[in-house]
Amino acid sequence: MSSDTHLKTNYKTVIVGGGIVGAGIFRDLVMNGVETLLVEAGDFSSQTSERSSKMLHGGIRYLENFDFPLVFEALHEKNLWLKLTPHLAKEVPFYLPVYKDAKRPLWMIRVGLYLYDLLSSFKNSPYTTKNKNETLHDIPGLNPNGLTGAGVYYDGIMDDAKITLEVIYDALIEPHAYAINHTKVVNVRKINNKNTLTLKDEFTGVETNIVADQVVYALGPFTDQFLKQYSFYNWQDVLLPSKGSHIWISAKDLPLTHPIVMTPQDEFGDRVIFVIPHGEKVLVGTTEVPNKDDLFHVKPTEEEIQYLLKNLNVYFPNLNLNKENIIGSFAGIRPLVRDANSGADRGKTSREHRVFQPSSDTYVIAGGKYTTFRVMGREITQKICHRFGLSFNRDKTETPLRRPSVVAPFEWKLPTEEDLIQICKTEMPKTFEDLVVRRLSVPTRRIWAEKTSKSFDEYFELHLHSLIKYIKITNQDIRNFK
Ligand SMILES: Cc1cc2nc3c(=O)[nH]c(=O)nc-3n(C[C@H](O)[C@H](O)[C@H](O)COP(=O)(O)OP(=O)(O)OC[C@H]3O[C@@H](n4cnc5c(N)ncnc54)[C@H](O)[C@@H]3O)c2cc1C
Repeated sequence: MSSDTHLKTNYKTVIVGGGIVGAGIFRDLVMNGVETLLVEAGDFSSQTSERSSKMLHGGIRYLENFDFPLVFEALHEKNLWLKLTPHLAKEVPFYLPVYKDAKRPLWMIRVGLYLYDLLSSFKNSPYTTKNKNETLHDIPGLNPNGLTGAGVYYDGIMDDAKITLEVIYDALIEPHAYAINHTKVVNVRKINNKNTLTLKDEFTGVETNIVADQVVYALGPFTDQFLKQYSFYNWQDVLLPSKGSHIWISAKDLPLTHPIVMTPQDEFGDRVIFVIPHGEKVLVGTTEVPNKDDLFHVKPTEEEIQYLLKNLNVYFPNLNLNKENIIGSFAGIRPLVRDANSGADRGKTSREHRVFQPSSDTYVIAGGKYTTFRVMGREITQKICHRFGLSFNRDKTETPLRRPSVVAPFEWKLPTEEDLIQICKTEMPKTFEDLVVRRLSVPTRRIWAEKTSKSFDEYFELHLHSLIKYIKITNQDIRNFK
């Protein structure tokens, strides 16, 4: 596997944006024989695509918006990816506790869960319901006051960054597939009617011009900001950016064996908050609020953190969880596409994707969900294949990924020095953060401490001499890592 650090001057197609959507289109295009370069400003999957709720799901919540085609498609993709990447995603039962005064009683939950399984063509493991005692047995510590039972349905949990990376590694097996990270597109011009893109290396600052017959922008939440810079696109805003935050709690403080779905009814409206165990840590989220941060540096606010903690304490009143129990947090922006019905209500805005064509040789894709990435760009791939006189096979991407990463997320064990070297040689990390956060799946120093008794500093300083041959790293990087 190799990245094209020596850029050519011409490419048939260039994809800008190396999140899951760009990665999915990249794989589809190169598997169908189209020479393609994927360009990413930071590390692959270092923005929205590593900040999701880490679920492959149909979106049980969207049933209430009557988004049946989306739920149908997402459920089929979920069940496909559970088969294609068993080392990166697994099916687990989600418990939806129901209380006496709830807006949706147990019978209504039963109808919804049946519909969910039906829309999966009964490929989901079948839903069940539990009475109060069974629920308390399976979810110890859950608030028993007013509990009537729980609906239990099946969805997938995943390592979002790892799937994106492995989709890219798999694509790079194909001839004429090139990918480069830490390289930003800083200018686009039409010269002799051709797209000329200026790419800037994040470390050296060196700028290189390349020409692309076809450009695809898969910029997620960065779409409007980027395209508005270029008058020839005549771009009008299409996004309704929606910020979502998560916290990680140590599994020692919140011992859960199954994910639960909390359904608070409060000033934020009709939300759901997922509480999902991932080994030694538990993911809690999400919120849905307008974004005020710079798009590249989005962080949870104090208010969002308190909101998540408050609801955890309603569902688990004896645990008295507070900020001390948080071992990490992150936020991302859902790149929702505005629709006529949604107004400013982010929760009600459809999660469907949209494809735009601002000029004959340029496509823009926005919206969608992580789970549906494979089918999102299919329309674009088909049109590009047609343009280049190639046949298009829509099923090529229904195949397992061929390059598993060195460290698998669910059976995490302390990597050896050989593992680290192998990762540096084959998985394209360029910084210490790329290595630790996305290749080793360790987002914070406190999570490292939960995973292993080996001190973070000691471990990396021991391997520093080997690592600096491949990636930028100093003792200070190790100490600064939060
Ligand atoms: C809080 C939250 C929870 C979610 N949970 C789920 C979930 O559980 N399941 C699910 O299916 N979906 C979920 N989603 C939705 C899903 O995460 C997103 O739809 C998806 O990750 C978007 O991917 P993307 O590739 O479009 O965007 P991104 O991952 O943001 O990729 C766009 C890339 O473009 C790059 N870029 C920007 N400017 C430039 C430039 N000038 N040059 C080169 N590159 C550039 C960025 O660095 C970025 O990496 C969630 C989203 C959020 C925010």
